[in-house]
Amino acid sequence: MTGLILTLNAGSSSIKFSVYDGDARLFRGQVERIGPNGRLTVKDDQDFEHPVTAPDLSDHGSAVQAILTNILPLLDGRKISAVGHRVVHGGMRFDAPAVLADETIAYLETLTPFAPLHQPHNLAGIYAARAAFGDVPQIACFDTAFHRHHPFVNDTFAIPREYYDQGVRRYGFHGLSYDYITSEIAKQSPTLAQGRVVIAHLGNGASMCAVRGGRSIASTMGFSALDGLPMGTRCGQIDAGVVLYLMQQENMTADQISDMLYKNSGLLGMSGVSNDMRTLERSDQIGAKQAIDYFIFRIQRELGAMAAVLNGIDALIFCGGIGENSTLIRERVCSGMEWMGIELDHTRNAENTPRISAELSRVTVMTIPTNEEVVIARAVRNLA
Ligand code: AMP
Repeated sequence: MTGLILTLNAGSSSIKFSVYDGDARLFRGQVERIGPNGRLTVKDDQDFEHPVTAPDLSDHGSAVQAILTNILPLLDGRKISAVGHRVVHGGMRFDAPAVLADETIAYLETLTPFAPLHQPHNLAGIYAARAAFGDVPQIACFDTAFHRHHPFVNDTFAIPREYYDQGVRRYGFHGLSYDYITSEIAKQSPTLAQGRVVIAHLGNGASMCAVRGGRSIASTMGFSALDGLPMGTRCGQIDAGVVLYLMQQENMTADQISDMLYKNSGLLGMSGVSNDMRTLERSDQIGAKQAIDYFIFRIQRELGAMAAVLNGIDALIFCGGIGENSTLIRERVCSGMEWMGIELDHTRNAENTPRISAELSRVTVMTIPTNEEVVIARAVRNLA
C-alpha cells in the first residue's frame, strides 16, 4: 500500500489521531472534550500546531468529520487509503488485527459487556470513520490480541468452568505496546528476542508482560484493565472479597464501585495527592511516599512472579511515561534485584540511555519508548 494511513484511538470524550506515510508520522492531534466545549488540535511532525476550523465537535461522528476536513488540505492531494482503529477488546476470537467487515463489527459489539468503559467508544470511532470515509478499508488492532495464546493456567480464573467457556478469561491488555517493544527488541538484539523478557509498561495505565521468544506468556492485567499493578487511578490487584464487602456492608452499587476502582483508586486514591508520578515524586506528603512504595512493591513482586513463569529472565524493559522517564522509579524497581541478575548502571539510568544495566549485568535492562500507533499503521499496511 502506498497511500497514507490514518490511525484513530477513540475514547469516551476524546479521539486521538495520526497520519502515517509508511513508518513516518506526518501529523497527529486530538479532539478533546467531545461535546459542546470540544477542542481540535493538529500538529505536524515538527510539533508545529496548525490552525483549525471545527464548528461542530458535539459527538464522535462530527469529531471524525472535523479531523478529516482539517487534515485533507494538509496532504498535498494525497489520499487516506486506509484507517486503523485501536480497539480494546478482540475477545476469544482475535489474535491479530482484523478487517472491519459488518460481521466483525457485530462480533465486537457483543464484547461490550467485557469492556463497558472502552469498547463502546472504540465502536463509536469505527462507525464515525465508516460514515466519513465510505469504502476506505478499516482495520481494527486489539489490545488483547498479543496475549491471546496464553497457556490455560494464565488464561483462567479458578471459578466454575462455565464462566471460562463463556469468555471470563484473563485477556491482558496494552498488547499494541508489547507488540511494538518486542519488534524493537528483535531489531536491536535478535538473541534477546528469542529469550525471556519481562516488559514493564508503566504509565497512567500500567501492566507487565512476560514474553518468551516474542510471545506473551503471562500478563498482570486480566479480565479487565483493572488487575495487576496499581495505576494512576485504577486499583490493580484486589481481593474480590473487598468488592463483596463494599456491596454488602457499604451498600455501594456496581456503578459506585466501578467509579471507585477505575477513577479514584491507584496512586491517586492511595496518596490523596495526585495520579501523576511527577507530582508524587516531588511531594513531601506521606501519602505520596506510600503510594510510590506500594507501586514499587507490586512491580517487584510481579517481576519475581514473571521470572518464575519464564524459568528465568534475560531482559527487563521499561516503557510508558513513567518507565521511559523516571530515573527514580527504575532505580527503585531494580534495587534489591541483584539476586535475579539485575544490576543497574546508575549513570546510564540517570542519562536515560537505552541500555541502563551495568556491563556485567546478567539481565539486560533497557528503556524503549513505546509507539502503539506505528503498530496500528504497520498492521493496516499489511492488511488493507
Ligand atoms: P503515559 O500514560 O504513558 O503517558 O504516562 C503518564 C505518566 O508518566 C504520569 O504519571 C507522568 O507523571 C509520568 N511521567 C512522565 N514523565 C515523567 C518523569 N520525567 N518522571 C516521572 N514520571 C513521569
